[in-house]
Amino acid sequence: MSCSVGTIQEHIDDDMVVTAYCGRFPDCMHREELDLDALKESLGSDFMIVGNDAFTRALRCAQCGHKGGSLIVSPRFRTDYHKRMVRNGVS
Ligand SMILES: [Zn+2]
Repeated sequence: MSCSVGTIQEHIDDDMVVTAYCGRFPDCMHREELDLDALKESLGSDFMIVGNDAFTRALRCAQCGHKGGSLIVSPRFRTDYHKRMVRNGVS
């Protein structure tokens, strides 16, 4: 679920995927996988992004420009499954 709190490095070590969802859900269904390596570069490996209100409030939707979103942490295999769904046009 969405309560998997940890540092950026822990997410990378666990091969987790952090996906940001637009705060206007369900009006805007945009979601985007965060680039953990890039975030680690700019914020540091000990930075916590999940459960960090300042971070989620600063997220900006690339589709509608809404500021603020939510994060979902999931194992990578599940995200690969989602990508297959998207490629097949299911999503
Ligand atoms: Zn949006």
